Amino acid sequence: MRTRLFIVVLTLSAIAAAQAAQDPIDRIREADLKRDLFALSGDAMRGREAGTIDEMTASAWVAERAREAGLQPAGDNGTYFQFFPLERLRVSSSSTVTLAGKDLKLGRDVLPDATVVASIDAPVTVVESDTFEGSDLKGRVLVVRYAPAQQATQDAGPRTAAALRTWARGIQRAVTASAPAAIVAIVPDAAREQWDRVAISFPRGSYGLDPDGTGSPLTPARGIPVLYVRESALGGAVAADARMVASIVTDTFTYPSVNIVARVPGRDAALRNEYVLFSAHQDHDGERFAVDGDKIWNGADDNATTAVALLAIGRAMAAQPGRRSTLFIWHGAEERGLMGSRWYVKHPTVPLTSIVACLNGDMMGRNDPDTAALLGAVGPHRNSPELVQIALAANQKVTKFTVDSSWDDPQHREGWYYRSDHLPYARAGVPALFFTTLLHTDYHTPFDNPDRIDVAKLTKMTKWMYATGRTVAEADKAPVVDPAFKLERCRDSTGDHCGG
Ligand SMILES: [Zn+2]
Repeated sequence: MRTRLFIVVLTLSAIAAAQAAQDPIDRIREADLKRDLFALSGDAMRGREAGTIDEMTASAWVAERAREAGLQPAGDNGTYFQFFPLERLRVSSSSTVTLAGKDLKLGRDVLPDATVVASIDAPVTVVESDTFEGSDLKGRVLVVRYAPAQQATQDAGPRTAAALRTWARGIQRAVTASAPAAIVAIVPDAAREQWDRVAISFPRGSYGLDPDGTGSPLTPARGIPVLYVRESALGGAVAADARMVASIVTDTFTYPSVNIVARVPGRDAALRNEYVLFSAHQDHDGERFAVDGDKIWNGADDNATTAVALLAIGRAMAAQPGRRSTLFIWHGAEERGLMGSRWYVKHPTVPLTSIVACLNGDMMGRNDPDTAALLGAVGPHRNSPELVQIALAANQKVTKFTVDSSWDDPQHREGWYYRSDHLPYARAGVPALFFTTLLHTDYHTPFDNPDRIDVAKLTKMTKWMYATGRTVAEADKAPVVDPAFKLERCRDSTGDHCGG
């Protein structure tokens, strides 16, 4: 009995010693990332669109996983959540449109091209698509039939603007000087796919955010109203002496989006009040028009990859806290214009000056397995040379990616640096980096699915972010901001920084 007990004690202490020796980076496991990735970007999450219950569902899922990972709540009022109001503006369902005596149902028979206000009672001028120039259109409703056979019927891809919309806006520009009361684009049933593309954005309206509480409210679009009308809803051609009567009004309201905020307290009493921030966004583009029968835009790479990377980093940090604390933020409504990160820098739950580094990731699981990009690494986007050095050293030591910094070039046509959640932090003076594996043909399409993610590469990217943050969390001194940091653009989604 005694001997046995001795052996048990010996075995347990051997396990304890092995655990103490285990590098927490080994807790970042490909199998965990894969499981979480397929859950967060599976069809059940319906694309996690901001301002919908699907983003809420995904956010609750993230918070629950953060709690399981051992992270503490660090959002508002001791919770994992920081809710913020998305302002919405959309055409009201009480709007009415009658054309040639037919009452048209909004969303089904008629679609405004933009969120406009219009009051119209006017005669029509029916023209062939290329013969309106020279007509006297002042105060009249120009009625034009969309002829897809004469247009580029094939769009370049799901991301390109609908050909119907491009065509209608071209007419709008061409007739502006003639001051018609409205433009009606008759859409034949043969152009159903084009109709669907325009229809999908109709109920969304437009989004705004006012983090300072100083902005003016969203206002309807100006310009000559363009209305798409389904030809089959009219039951025949529009007579030359017909009239259109329309009253289009808008609704404004707010709907919450949410940041998920969690932390691992630091182990050093002197440094615990400083934070290394790991940043991602959990939202994507929801359900949109179907391509090849798939209408769920899953956003697996964008950005379930980094959202689940943060969970893995959280498990590693919780197992062995850094000297500094680590903060984890999954930002909501990034796809609607960096709204969660813009909100957080104005309403931080820890002092913004206590965040010593923002390590943001967005799209980390595609393209060449051995190449990755680090944005914010080269001027004019580099706001902390020390932080860049730490990240590059971590890569040399742990992951050995070939680092592509060409997308930091201010001439790069994608302007990639301006398109993720590190930007508001960099603007606010926080040393900031953006880890990414860059664009691909499935970006913002229904084909950004979890089975297309290189999970081994995602695991390496996660380890690179972690190793960078671990170095910052353990260092005696925090990285400093370059006082000469100045971005080449003075206007972006964070606001107007052009000031005199
Ligand atoms: Zn993204």
